[in-house]
Order: sequence, then structure tokens, then C-alpha cells
Amino acid sequence: MTLAPEAKQTILDSIRDIPDFPKPGIVFKDITTLLANPKAFQTLMDHLEARYRERGLDYIAGIDARGFIFGAALADRLGIGFVPVRKKGKLPYTTVAEKYSLEYGFDEVEVHIDAFGENGQCNGKPAEVLLVDDLIATGGTAEAAANLINKVGANCVEACFVMELMFLKGREKFEMPVYSVLQID
Ligand code: AMP
Repeated sequence: MTLAPEAKQTILDSIRDIPDFPKPGIVFKDITTLLANPKAFQTLMDHLEARYRERGLDYIAGIDARGFIFGAALADRLGIGFVPVRKKGKLPYTTVAEKYSLEYGFDEVEVHIDAFGENGQCNGKPAEVLLVDDLIATGGTAEAAANLINKVGANCVEACFVMELMFLKGREKFEMPVYSVLQID
């Protein structure tokens, strides 16, 4: 499913670059301006819906917090369930956790143990899950989230991002398909 160059440009133009946030040397990709732009947001969601409509997915899993926005909107369009992959300590029921490395130290993501059904099973087979986030940088966060989905018995079939920072080669961490709408050099 290809995205026309003009549509790609509409989405790209709606994202704001914030230099030196949250620290010097980082160019933060601000998607609040995309969300506030109905044409850009709809262009993006039309494309994602077309790409995933016939895939037979059972769930979308979105990464805390911007992955919730795109992931939940896509789940609603596809008529399937949405599962939040949350930062540690936010989910109220029994959770399964996965640690991942940051530049200094580590962080942890969690899902409810039954988020994709008992043992992650849907109609007697592992639930097919699409992982969604706004951006892939090193890929560490998404790798942990994908591991978590598989750990509770479901099957993470693809990871999907609005943006991919190509120079960090985050996709190399994954054996499963990785899709990005916009590739940033
Ligand atoms: P990583 O684990 O290195 O792939 O980092 C991905 C996570 O950090 C995603 O949840 C992004 O929302 C966030 N992130 C990393 N770099 C940026 C950036 N330059 N602009 C906006 N968000 C970023």
C-alpha cells in the first residue's frame, strides 16, 4: 500500500521540529501539530487503515503515550481491540513487564497479563498484534514492547511507526516486518 508523495508531504509538513528538546543535540519531532491538523491526521489514518484493513489483525498495541493516539484511532477504524503498553506502575491489574536500556539506566513497559485474551489466544491461536508508536529511534522501546506481546502468548506480527530516524538503524533490532510512513534522514 503506497502513499502518494503529496500525501506524504502533507503529513511531513504538519510535524514540528523542536531543536534541543528535551536536551541539547536532540531534534524532537512534535506530533501535536499533526494531531491539530485535520487534513494531515486524516491523510495519515486513511493510509494506515488502507494498509492494515485486510491483514486479519486481532489487536493494535500502542506504546505509552503517543502510540496510544495513533494506535487507538487505527483500532477504531479497523473495528478491533486496542491494548495500551504502559510505562511501569500505571496498570491496575496483574501485569507482565519487560525492561529495556536507556542511554543511562533502564526503563520498563508493562501490559495486563490477559490483555490479548487468556494466554494471548484468540479463537484458539495466538492473537495477531500490530505494534504502533509515533517514532522509532534506537528501537529499544518497541523491541521491549514486542517482546512483551510475545511473552503473554500473542504474536507481534509487525511494528508500525509514523516516523523512522533512519540514521539510528532501529529496525535492525527486529526480525519481524517494520513499517514507517515517513523516513527521516
Ligand atoms: P527508541 O526506544 O530509541 O526507539 O525511542 C523511541 C521512543 O522515544 C518513542 O516512544 C518516541 O516517541 C520517543 N522519541 C525518541 N526520539 C524522539 C524524537 N527525536 N522526537 C520525538 N520522540 C522521540
